[in-house]
Amino acid sequence: MSTGTEQSKAWFARAKAAVPGGVNSPVRAFNSVGGTPRFMVRGEGPYLWDADGNRYVDLVSSWGPMILGHAHPKVVAAARAAAEHGLSFGTPTIGEVELAEEIIGRVGPVEQVRLVNSGTEATMSAIRLARGFTGRAKIVKFAGCYHGHVDALLAEAGSGVATLGLPTSPGVTGAQAADTIVLPYNDLDALRKSFAENEGQIAAVITEAAAGNMGAVPPDPGFNAALRDLAHENGALLIMDEVMTGFRVSRAGWFGLEGVAGDLYTFGKVMSGGLPAAAFGGRADIMAKLAPGGPVYQAGTLSGNPVAVAAGLTALREADDAVYEKLDANAKRLGGLFDKALSEAGVTHTVQFAGNLVSVFFTDKPVRNYADAQATETWRFPAFFHALLEAGVYPPPSAYEAWFVNAAMDDEAFGVIEAALPAAARAAAEAVRP
Ligand code: PLP
Repeated sequence: MSTGTEQSKAWFARAKAAVPGGVNSPVRAFNSVGGTPRFMVRGEGPYLWDADGNRYVDLVSSWGPMILGHAHPKVVAAARAAAEHGLSFGTPTIGEVELAEEIIGRVGPVEQVRLVNSGTEATMSAIRLARGFTGRAKIVKFAGCYHGHVDALLAEAGSGVATLGLPTSPGVTGAQAADTIVLPYNDLDALRKSFAENEGQIAAVITEAAAGNMGAVPPDPGFNAALRDLAHENGALLIMDEVMTGFRVSRAGWFGLEGVAGDLYTFGKVMSGGLPAAAFGGRADIMAKLAPGGPVYQAGTLSGNPVAVAAGLTALREADDAVYEKLDANAKRLGGLFDKALSEAGVTHTVQFAGNLVSVFFTDKPVRNYADAQATETWRFPAFFHALLEAGVYPPPSAYEAWFVNAAMDDEAFGVIEAALPAAARAAAEAVRP
């Protein structure tokens, strides 16, 4: 049970004076659920502890990376050992080759990899490369998909952009937005029409391999394969954004579950072990266009940072079949608990999965796209969220985010969730439409 939030409240007040909104990434501010964001001071296994000493079962897992749980001893040891040998060299290193080879070994269509520092950088670079390779300007993205805060990709984006209800962002110029075509997810007719209307102009279709930023919304069977075929028939590339799904939903990410090859891939989160590292990669003939071999410029002072690379490589090497079985089992178990508690409280809901990403939507219909997600009873979410938080469970602070399990969750952690859910489900039932 909560031991209060005095410390988090005090730190949030102090943070708001020094940091815009008090946070370094908008969703952390709890704007859509209200209340005080918890200032975390420690993580271990499936748990986080805040500055007031409250313990939480963490169902955010740092928005995806921590599939092994927090402070995994081998990942921490690898980062520590790397740090002791120097924090950054700005030269090639052995570790970054090994990490690239690990990614290539896992994801068949990826023949070459370039390391960057964040998922945003990965998608930004992949788009530049797709434009450079095809000599075309336009990009197709899907509403509700989030690909980081790249100017051209903020239009009708998911994640925090959806949470804050923003259609796009001031600061994105008309020219940047004009080259972005936004279509409904899981709508192939819209894509066919768009290719016909923009003949010879579309460089790439970028999609989340399975959408996780409007909640967990899997592609319809055949959707990704049709994206690839339509893109290729029209001389465009398919960019599979696996920043969220990569190395989480299987050894080879969503590709491992579905087998549809994209031309370019973006990765982040899990492959970083929790430090800042990300990557983009794909067909060797496309990657060959990157500087220094080719004319498409891309670079980074800290890219391939040795500490981040050591953490990422160790996390991936630890993520064996048993870890993926555990993640899948934990996701199913969590979804089952949601279902049971919400059914008993009489709350209309749909528990949805994209691999081991889980979402609870307050609706009786399947959610196939962003419009469906927006039409759900999202106003029930804050009450559900706060009842769980109060009882020692840390849910994603937005109705539009997936829930991220980790492999460190055990019976004790699930016991906390199970004990918390009946009251949370009742709170959702009693929530009043604004
Ligand atoms: N792409 C997807 C699918 C994501 O989920 C995210 C972040 O959540 C990004 C890109 C951006 O990654 P980052 O936050 O590391 O910039």
